[in-house]
Amino acid sequence: MKFDTWWLALFVSMMGFAVTGHAQEKLKIYISADMEGVVGVVTGEQLGPSGFEYNRFREFMTQEVNAAIEAAFEAGATEVVVSDSHGNGQNLLMEKLPKNIMLVRSWPRPLMMMQGIDETFDGVIFIGYHSSTTNPEGVRAHTISSARLADIRLNGVSMPEAGINAAIAGQFNVPVIMVSGDDAIVKEATALLGDIEGAVVKWAYGFHSAKTLMPEAAYDLIREKVKKAIGRIKDFKPYKLKTPVQLDVRFKNYRPSEVLSYLPIVERTDAHSIRYVGKDMIEVSKFLEFILTYEPSLEP
Ligand SMILES: [Zn+2]
Repeated sequence: MKFDTWWLALFVSMMGFAVTGHAQEKLKIYISADMEGVVGVVTGEQLGPSGFEYNRFREFMTQEVNAAIEAAFEAGATEVVVSDSHGNGQNLLMEKLPKNIMLVRSWPRPLMMMQGIDETFDGVIFIGYHSSTTNPEGVRAHTISSARLADIRLNGVSMPEAGINAAIAGQFNVPVIMVSGDDAIVKEATALLGDIEGAVVKWAYGFHSAKTLMPEAAYDLIREKVKKAIGRIKDFKPYKLKTPVQLDVRFKNYRPSEVLSYLPIVERTDAHSIRYVGKDMIEVSKFLEFILTYEPSLEP
């Protein structure tokens, strides 16, 4: 090799190193996956182990998450954490997920549907989400517990799970960049969180009916919206609430608010409602998880 060819070769290889070094800049994506907003889901038959269609819909949920993961890596993500955040927290079919991600499973978790998030992440994606219990529209509209809760407010504003979870991510300065689900949650989440990307995989006719895309079309749409969101990730701002955070919980029944008001940190605001003020969203999340989990018969 001639001397100047040698220098040229060295220069080219150093440039290559610089380019690769840049391409490997970290980009961490957190995916919180629920099931009510997954393609085709309309009733409880798809949502839990006693439903006749549950096992097939676990597959669809898993493939929606896979579509988001694949698109995230293609768009430059270097690390992905997924939380299985529906029902028993054990819905996603692990053997069908790629080996280079991490998965959060089962309950209870101090940060609920956002367990595993921290300030090292760059963006949050919601897959399979649904509208809030105070929204008259949306398939299986509820907030955290359809059986127990009639409203959750943060600083006076009624929240869907997408809002509570965005506020938890906001605590760590991480923005939500994309949501998938029915038309009702995409509308509700964008009204609350701003111009995030939304993948509408079905259109609600009622609590238990919808017009839906077919699974493969939903995966394509999710891929497209995830790529778009990561492509403009600098556009999104974390959803940060003023602290301390005032949490108002309205129960469907009477006794939870009666008994919780024995605690000096809890104020009973009406027959069915309590108020708790936490110093930040971490405290609020732990309080919520506590009041929905605790019972003296807990074992082991
Ligand atoms: Zn769910």
